[in-house]
Amino acid sequence: MKRMAIYPGSFDPITRGHEDLVSRALTFVDEVVVAVAHRRTQAKGGLFSIPERVAIIEEVFADEPRVRVAEFDGLLVDFARQLGTHMVVRGLRAVSDFEYEFQMALMNRQLWRELETIFLAPDARYSYLSASLVREIAALGGNVRGCVSAPVLRALGERYPHLAGAAPE
Ligand code: ADP
Repeated sequence: MKRMAIYPGSFDPITRGHEDLVSRALTFVDEVVVAVAHRRTQAKGGLFSIPERVAIIEEVFADEPRVRVAEFDGLLVDFARQLGTHMVVRGLRAVSDFEYEFQMALMNRQLWRELETIFLAPDARYSYLSASLVREIAALGGNVRGCVSAPVLRALGERYPHLAGAAPE
């Protein structure tokens, strides 16, 4: 049977840290569903719309048939059930991520006993990277060429002139 994992998040925008996690997950599952969450996104106030994020992620993984991109509204457990998977992947960058992630994992397990959350650590190069930092640096005129892939840079370039035509580092 095909092993599938869901990687849920806001992905506003997807960073090289997220991509690194997807590659790691693909070493032990056959398919990763990168799932853009509606709700948490609204609370955070987004830069890119959900359809824009989905399109960007699809472009990032255009050459990786084992990655599927989806969006979901409502509870992660309901979406996982709908997809027919028990496996959720999340990233731990630093101790600061732990408390929230641990709380979420246990709450999700309470909602659905069979749901397992698997935590992956990114390559150390990406352990400081977050989508909110990328948004902030881009908005303030900074260089994010080392933080995101070409499709993300292109999308950021449409918002911020200093990034127009920028190539990834
Ligand atoms: P959140 O809304 O929880 O911040 P994100 O969309 O930013 O969600 O990220 C989704 C998941 O990816 C979270 O588990 C987060 O810890 C993880 N993540 C984000 N950035 C990185 C990174 N640079 N390295 C590893 N994991 C990351």
